[in-house]
Amino acid sequence: MASFPPSVNELAESFSGSGLPHPLLVQEIRKAIDQGDWENLETRIQRLKALPLQTVINATGVLLHTNLGRAPWPNSSTGHAINVELDLTTGLRGSRQEHVGNLFATLCGSEAAMVVNNCSSAVLLVLSALASGKGVAISRSEMVEIGGNFRVPDVLELSGAYLVEVGTTNRTRKDDYERAISANKDVAMMMKIHQSNYKIVGFTESTDVAELSDMGIPLVADIGSGLLDENCPWLDSGPPAWINGEPAAKQTLEQGADLITFSGDKLLGGPQAGIIAGRADLIGRCMKHPFARAVRPGGLILSSLQELAMRYLTRDWEAIPFWKMAVTTVNELEQRANRIGIGTPVPLNSIPGGGTLPEVVIPSFGLQLNGDVSHKLRLGTDENPPIIARVEDGNTFLDLRTVDPLFDDQLSSALHGIS
Ligand SMILES: *Cc1c(COP(=O)(O)O)cnc(C)c1O
Repeated sequence: MASFPPSVNELAESFSGSGLPHPLLVQEIRKAIDQGDWENLETRIQRLKALPLQTVINATGVLLHTNLGRAPWPNSSTGHAINVELDLTTGLRGSRQEHVGNLFATLCGSEAAMVVNNCSSAVLLVLSALASGKGVAISRSEMVEIGGNFRVPDVLELSGAYLVEVGTTNRTRKDDYERAISANKDVAMMMKIHQSNYKIVGFTESTDVAELSDMGIPLVADIGSGLLDENCPWLDSGPPAWINGEPAAKQTLEQGADLITFSGDKLLGGPQAGIIAGRADLIGRCMKHPFARAVRPGGLILSSLQELAMRYLTRDWEAIPFWKMAVTTVNELEQRANRIGIGTPVPLNSIPGGGTLPEVVIPSFGLQLNGDVSHKLRLGTDENPPIIARVEDGNTFLDLRTVDPLFDDQLSSALHGIS
């Protein structure tokens, strides 16, 4: 016999002690009734009570996992007021860009720098401020989609600039740029976009930043990943081998780029942000453009980047979670796998992720569990945060490179819990 649903009010009354805020409770009751699932309301409410956003253990081996917020970085906000635009020495209103901008200019070796919400907004701001109504010369090999509808030709259109296509998909030479620029009086800048998430192989030729640095119009390089210096002077061990060939901020500027743009939460290892660094006059034009306000960061991000910059400047790489996990030795990971004492210790390969360094793998170590238990691990328990694992060929793998050692005990207890 079909049962009829009780009224929303009755159900809301009987679950009023559930701890779920009333508006969310009523919404869920209506949904459950609509779906003929009111008998499972108890379970549905329990599920809702776990906040959708929470701390998770990234055991995927993907260092910069976009679904997990890319680079892990502490939220160190005090929750109190921050002097975002107040100069404490003069008591006058200052620029929110000045202090953090100077830190990043120092780190990149540039005249100036500024911070926006992410690298996509950095690119949009630069194009809008320097080339609106004008042409932008870009190689046909760099007309790319960076991800999630962020396509270079579309962003260009949004900025009011127009595309001046240069060269071919697989080969672009300096004289291709020269011809495009001389044939078109209105070309205001050249842009190079790093092939972050793909590779063109075979019969290819491209023009590097150094070759294009003397063409008489600004050269902007979107390097994307935010590696500050290819020599990684902040690391005692020097640059890891897998970083080889990734364009770095300092060297790209030294080669003659007038401006560079990059993300805060990729190889830089910080919060979501975008950094623009380079010539002071060009940064000044970006700061004055109306979009600058639309994409400006808040105090939380600025103070967080200040802290990150200080750690780079003091070479305190162990305090930058991304670099700590990136350079941990396989030996150390193997010892941790053995110490956890459940599952089978196995060598694994981590990847940088976050749309950076396609094809790169970083030797790692972790644990193999029989069968696919990823769902159980992902649910977490009251004592243990959700664990995000990798499943291959029907078995579950936990890569310890991306797991903070602080979580090893919880990992161990979660694994005992499901075995
Ligand atoms: C990742 C990336 C972007 C987009 O950066 P977000 O910070 O995600 O907006 C832009 N350009 C390049 C070359 C990138 O690698």
